[in-house]
This record gives sequence, C-alpha cells and structure tokens, in this order.
Amino acid sequence: MGKLYGLIGHPIGHSMSPVMHNGEFKELGLSHHYHAFDLSPEQLEDGVDAMKMLDIQGFNVTIPHKVAIIPLLDEVEQEAIDIGAVNTVYKRDGKYIGTNTDGSGYLLSLLTLIGEKNLSGKKILVIGAGGAARAVAVSVSQSEVASLTIANRTLEKAEELSKLCQHYSVANAITLSEAETSLGQFDIVINTTSIGMSPHLDRMPISLEHIRSGTVVSDLIYNPLETKWMKLAKSKGAVTDNGISMFVEQGALAFEKWTGVSPDRKRMRNTVLKELGGY
Ligand code: NAP
Repeated sequence: MGKLYGLIGHPIGHSMSPVMHNGEFKELGLSHHYHAFDLSPEQLEDGVDAMKMLDIQGFNVTIPHKVAIIPLLDEVEQEAIDIGAVNTVYKRDGKYIGTNTDGSGYLLSLLTLIGEKNLSGKKILVIGAGGAARAVAVSVSQSEVASLTIANRTLEKAEELSKLCQHYSVANAITLSEAETSLGQFDIVINTTSIGMSPHLDRMPISLEHIRSGTVVSDLIYNPLETKWMKLAKSKGAVTDNGISMFVEQGALAFEKWTGVSPDRKRMRNTVLKELGGY
C-alpha cells in the first residue's frame, strides 16, 4: 500500500524535493506520495502533530524548522546532534527519529567528484558559517582532512564552527580577505553562502585571484546551475561542481532511510535538472 512522505518548511513553493521523490517513487513502481507542507514557525508544533496523525512515514525538514523540530521528535541521531540540525525524519517502531543527510550527502557527492574514498591529506576551505556550512564542515572534518579552514563575514560564527570541528580535525577560522590572499594553499574550496544565487547573479563570495589550477571548487548553489564565481574558477583551471550533487545525495540518503530502497541517483539528478531547465 502507498505510504505518505513529505517536506515541511516555509516557504517551500520553490522546492525540487517533491518532483525528485515522486518521480523516483513512480520509476520504481512504488505507490508512495511525497507532499510539501508549508508550515510557518507558529504552526510547527501543531503541524508535526498533524503529520503524526496522518501516519506520515518520513519527511524532510527545511528552513526555518531544522533546529526547532528537534524537541518535537522522539529521538535524534548523533549525526544530527553534532550538526545541531535535522533535515530528515523517519518512523521506526512507532517513533519519529531525526537525522541529518545534508552533511553526509555533501561529503559523498564531493568524494564522487574527486574519485576518492576520503579526504585524506586535503586542505579544505569552507566559505560561510550558516546552517549549510555547519552540516558540510562537520561531515568534511570527519573525513581525515589535513586541515579545515572556515572563512565568514561574521568571524565569530566561523570561530564557533571551527571549535566544533576541532573535535574531529585540525580546524581554524579566518576572515574573507584572509581567505582571498591564502587561496593558493587549499586543495578544495567550498562556497556555502548564498552569494551569487539568483537574482544576485553578479556577486561572488571571494575573489579568485590567487587560486591554483586544479583546485576543486564546489558551490552549494544550484540556482543558477553555474554561478559567476564557478565560471571564473573554471576559467582558471579549477574542477567545479554545483549544489545539485549535494541536493540529490541528501535526498537519496533520506529515500533509503524511508523505503530501504536505493534510488537511481543519476535519474534523480536528471529529474531535477529537467525541472530547472538545465537538462
Ligand atoms: P544561512 O544559514 O542563512 O547562512 C548564510 C551564510 O552566508 C552565512 O555564512 C552568511 O554570513 C553568509 N552571507 C550571506 N550573505 C552574505 C553577504 N552579502 N556577504 C557575506 N556573507 C554573506 O543559509 P544556509 O541555510 O546556510 O544556506 C546557504 C546557501 O546554501 C544557500 O544558497 C542555500 O540555497 C544553499 N544550500 C544548498 C543545499 C544543497 O542541497 N545544494 C542545501 C542547503 C543549503 P554571516 O554569518 O556573516 O551572516
């Protein structure tokens, strides 16, 4: 029998998750349905109660509920506790359990890009220290990196995140201008800020004047599919990737938690790309 899955957030009209998950349910012959529920912060508690009454089997959680959902759940997995946010909830033995697939999804997509099993020996620069940066930095720091540096406009937030990552790796915080001048020493540079996202297409998170050819440059943004910053990085010999890879992988990991079935990542990616007009 078909089961109900979904997404809670506010606003959620732009989300690619329903088309990605429903497309995959259909392709795999599963009669499940994934529905986007727009819940304002004031509606969160009642909304989660209503989801439980509907016997929803699992749901994604997006902005602004990733932290506020935590006390409303029966259990939270260690990965989500480390990151401090939940992006996926699944039902087991009548309990609603929170986890986080953003960080592990990002890490898997990065490892696929570079063709490695871990980040051993790599010097990583993360630009930004918001919610997405937390997931990315915590997961990356657990993958045997040589060092992890976090640069952010608000330096205190980068310092706080680097302290958290020091549990797992060598980690430090720097300013955005220090990141620009020391760019040549990093193997992998990750933009987790929203700078360059539509409609502000002309903006760039940091200058790329000192980038080395062959550096891996990854941008979590996927609207546009290629930011001005990524285009420039590519023109300077960088290996680039956009945020679709993370989006698909975090969704695929949630899909596996919910159904026990491994979805076709390539097909999910094509579904999203088609929806975004880039296929
Ligand atoms: P967030 O928590 O609001 O964090 C935003 C970050 O960007 C902060 O570090 C902030 O710096 C920085 N920032 C914003 N405007 C800036 C500006 N004008 N100059 C300098 N720094 C600025 O947002 P988030 O949830 O982390 O999301 C960030 C981006 O990641 C968004 O584009 C989102 O779409 C993307 N994302 C992608 C995926 C995916 O699956 N591909 C998943 C999650 C998020 P301050 O700390 O100084 O404010």
